[in-house]
Amino acid sequence: MSFAASDNTDFDVAVIGGGHAGAEAARAAARLGAHVCLITFDAKTIAQMSCNPAIGGVGKGQIVREVDALGGLMGLAADATGMQFRMLNRSKGPAVWGPRCQSDRHAYAAWVQQVLADEANLTIVEGEATEILTEAGRVVGVRVNSAGRTIELACRAAIVTAGTFLNGKMHLGEKIWPGGRIDEPAAIHLSDSLRTCGLELGVLKTGTPPRLAAESIDLDQCTRQDSDETPSPFSFLNDTIDTEQIPCYLTATTPAVHDAVRENLHRAPLYTGQIQSTGPRYCPSFETKIVRFADKASHQIFLEPEGRDTNWVYVNGMSTSLPVDVQEVMIRNIPGLAEAEVLQWGYAIEYDFAQPTQVLATLETKTTRGLFLAGQILGTTGYEEAAGLGLIAGVNAAASLAGRSPLVLGRDQAYIGVMIDDLVTKGVTEPYRMFTSRAEHRLSLRADNADRRLTPIGREIGLACEKRLKRFDSERLAAEQARKILHETRVDGKALWQLLRRPGANLAELIDQAPGEAAAALGEIVRRYPKPIESLAIDSRYEGYQAKERSALRQMTQLDKKLIPPGLDYSVVHQLRHEAREKLSQVQPRSLGQALRVSGITPADITIISIHIAARNQ
Ligand code: FAD
Repeated sequence: MSFAASDNTDFDVAVIGGGHAGAEAARAAARLGAHVCLITFDAKTIAQMSCNPAIGGVGKGQIVREVDALGGLMGLAADATGMQFRMLNRSKGPAVWGPRCQSDRHAYAAWVQQVLADEANLTIVEGEATEILTEAGRVVGVRVNSAGRTIELACRAAIVTAGTFLNGKMHLGEKIWPGGRIDEPAAIHLSDSLRTCGLELGVLKTGTPPRLAAESIDLDQCTRQDSDETPSPFSFLNDTIDTEQIPCYLTATTPAVHDAVRENLHRAPLYTGQIQSTGPRYCPSFETKIVRFADKASHQIFLEPEGRDTNWVYVNGMSTSLPVDVQEVMIRNIPGLAEAEVLQWGYAIEYDFAQPTQVLATLETKTTRGLFLAGQILGTTGYEEAAGLGLIAGVNAAASLAGRSPLVLGRDQAYIGVMIDDLVTKGVTEPYRMFTSRAEHRLSLRADNADRRLTPIGREIGLACEKRLKRFDSERLAAEQARKILHETRVDGKALWQLLRRPGANLAELIDQAPGEAAAALGEIVRRYPKPIESLAIDSRYEGYQAKERSALRQMTQLDKKLIPPGLDYSVVHQLRHEAREKLSQVQPRSLGQALRVSGITPADITIISIHIAARNQ
């Protein structure tokens, strides 16, 4: 709504920005009883996917399940509007499986917009938030330009979730213009206001690939990729995904594409000095791939439909800000795309962000009481990371006003806890993306058990709905019964629980071997509660490893005393992530403790190095 003179201007919480962080923050705060306004440029772009039409992935899918388990929106929205569900990393252990779905981006945004519109305590205000108003170091309101008028909305807490819009500068070849996303304005005033609040801002960069018209793609030259046979929902409230699944297609770049990029690097904003800031390492632009992986003759390209009722196709793997004529040559030289019609060219964007070391673990800024930050403004990248941060900021803004304890999740409780701890203790030097390797407790922080870890917290803070709690309680009871039967029932002298831990063991086969009564009881529980029992079976498999994980963690407290051999060659430590190898080679820390404090180095990396050193010394 635009503002009329008669409208209420007095709120508890003002959320600035209706992206993935803002939607979760506004909904959570409103659900917890705060009177909330969500100020955003255009209500029709709430929950819009700026880049790839997909939710989840490795590490990210775990965050979506956690947001869902706490009572947030993203998992439900993804289930309602997903078009192709796949569990990534299936060839590896279940701890690192990553649920992902290809989304109908318009339907996704519309679904979230409807939920927010139906939320009783929430008012949506269209306009540009230009200033955070403070008195004696605390937030008292937000100034907004709405429909040509300046209005002041009073509030006691403000959550800024401005995404890529703060001072956004778009790049396409030599062309530069202000904007927050294609065809959308930048937020040009708010950066100065945040600086007045004592925050220091930096600049980061991201980019997006071209979009093509589906009917102009020759799919016969591409490889079809279907969804999983049995799609796995994100939300613990959903048993199945019953909508029709649609395929994606794979193709690949050719030497002619690589030659075109190489010959035009002198025109690439990333290499001419036009873009100075750092982009996401794990989502590099195509020109960066050509420079960084110079000997690779081909890169895979995924052609991902943006919706069921649109002909827009997202060219995943070809993010670029090269000039239009170069992008044209690149596309024409990819099998299947010789005749492709381009609906939108790839581009890059630079935007202001606040170093996350300036916020507490509650996401409230250290400089101004009642001012919270969440989402991409905190140096992250991705819808899922934004949703996780938004939810926590919304909960904590409402909790602080109501005098309740804040919600701070530990590294051993949730990926969201890992993310926030990483952000607020280490800061960022590049956009932060979640990976399973960032979590030292990843055998416990699985996508399948996010409800067991977090729904009790959702209950405690009051965000999980009645339906979720009822379902959770009956599933927990069933899992306890199943665990008891598995421990107490023996086959050939061994408890079923032990047999289940053997590699390749299968619960259905074990049930067949079990004595009649136990088999009947277990069979019935599995039939009624397949997901929690599958999760229980994974627990049995990881039991031994988790004990080792705990003991490895105890050893880490001694890390400062453990010296690293000077000049250690990290390039031969193959299990180490590329980023970790690069940073440790650069810093050459003296001890494991010092290594752990290097920005971007995770406890999981330290475990790998200590194992490497121990093996060297043997
Ligand atoms: P956004 O989704 O950006 O939402 C911000 C919202 O705030 C918008 O609705 C905007 O209108 C509103 N807003 C901002 N300032 C104001 C103001 N002052 N007043 C009122 N409203 C305001 N992520 C990846 O994981 N991988 C990628 O490859 C990737 N590529 C990207 C490429 C591009 C070109 C862009 C733009 C983004 C890309 N992203 C990528 C990032 C992804 O879109 C974000 O991580 C995610 O959307 C962040 O969510 P958010 O809620 O923080 O902000």
